[in-house]
Amino acid sequence: TCGFVAIVGRPNVGKSTLMNRVLGQKISITSRRPQTTRHQVMGIKTVNEAQFIYVDTPGIHILGRDRNKAINRFMNQAATQALRDVDCVVFIIDRTRWTEEDQIVLQRLEHVEAPVILAVNKVDRLEDKSTLLPWLAEVGARREFAAIIPLSAKHGTNVPELEAEVAKHL
Ligand code: GDP
Ligand code: MG
Repeated sequence: TCGFVAIVGRPNVGKSTLMNRVLGQKISITSRRPQTTRHQVMGIKTVNEAQFIYVDTPGIHILGRDRNKAINRFMNQAATQALRDVDCVVFIIDRTRWTEEDQIVLQRLEHVEAPVILAVNKVDRLEDKSTLLPWLAEVGARREFAAIIPLSAKHGTNVPELEAEVAKHL
């Protein structure tokens, strides 16, 4: 069997870092600068008999005044296309920070039928850990998520738990 997993989120939330962590190699470029990933990066992970195809989707986040630039239109189309036939979506956000761009990504996911797992990334940098639980409840009410998993893509914390959740939807 084989499953498609799309990784979505606004720039800088840690999509490429998560993908590299899951695949155990530096397949996708990570950077402090937003929009480093200009093209769609795919990676395949084989676990026993199953193959997971991960897609790091740039473009879904291209917003604002550059929205109509040809390159951005193209990337948005590629991102939307990538969501059409996936088995599972991992929507990443940065800790308890929620921006207009996160909201727009969430809107884009409205018509996605595949299960969406919310990954609350960078918890290693959470200033006040007591804000996490109330936040998980709050953000969890914004749509039906298959699961909500706080993690650190950079350090690997809870990433196996995310992978186990993804595996349920293969
Ligand atoms: P992308 O734009 O969504 O692909 O984000 P990147 O994977 O390029 O990451 C953006 C920045 O966030 C980089 O400097 C990463 O090292 C950093 N980053 C990603 N995940 C984590 C994490 O779990 N903890 C911390 N502290 N930093 C992270
Ligand atoms: Mg990236």
